Amino acid sequence: MRDPGPTQTVVTLDVEGVLIPEIWIAVAERTGVDGLRRTTRDEPDYDVLMRGRLDLLEQHALTMADVTEVIAGMSPLDGAAAFLDELRSRTQVILLSDTFEEFARPLMAQLGWPTVLCHRLEVDDADRIVDYRLRQPDQKRRAVAALHGLNYRVLAAGDSYNDTTMLSEADHGFLFRAPTNVIEEFPQFPALTEYDDLLERLIGLLRER
Ligand SMILES: [Mg+2]
Repeated sequence: MRDPGPTQTVVTLDVEGVLIPEIWIAVAERTGVDGLRRTTRDEPDYDVLMRGRLDLLEQHALTMADVTEVIAGMSPLDGAAAFLDELRSRTQVILLSDTFEEFARPLMAQLGWPTVLCHRLEVDDADRIVDYRLRQPDQKRRAVAALHGLNYRVLAAGDSYNDTTMLSEADHGFLFRAPTNVIEEFPQFPALTEYDDLLERLIGLLRER
């Protein structure tokens, strides 16, 4: 008998740029520390980028509480909460982010506490962010591979370079609000900009099974 393949579907979504604004950009704006604007688009080596950020926090005596305060003042992108609620009423959704649990919490509260898999910071007794711990490298792709191991079909969407291995590993991958350079480099992924369009494409794929 022919294997019909997996019949249940999970959707994995990137967080920053897809559901919430870029956290470090907001921190740069609110603290006036311009160097914190650098993102993975400027510095492809994530460790170099994060070490630079931690140095800047130290130089400007910014503590975990300072950064948390900025994040607490942030809101999800317009329409993100409704999009996520609608999607979660139809299938299981897992957020895959390269941010940190400590940063994600205030924003996840505003999104109704979805499941999010990300990394963790190390904070010392003086409340300084002294280090970061990646749970594992290439975690987004490996999460999708693990879901395949559980016999799920996976649909995924993200906006940047650190999402492309996740999109490749998924059964269907979408770019959402991606910058032009990413769209041009990865033409195999449909590029969308509106939540309604992404929802329609995902729902269409859910109906296929
Ligand atoms: Mg992103």
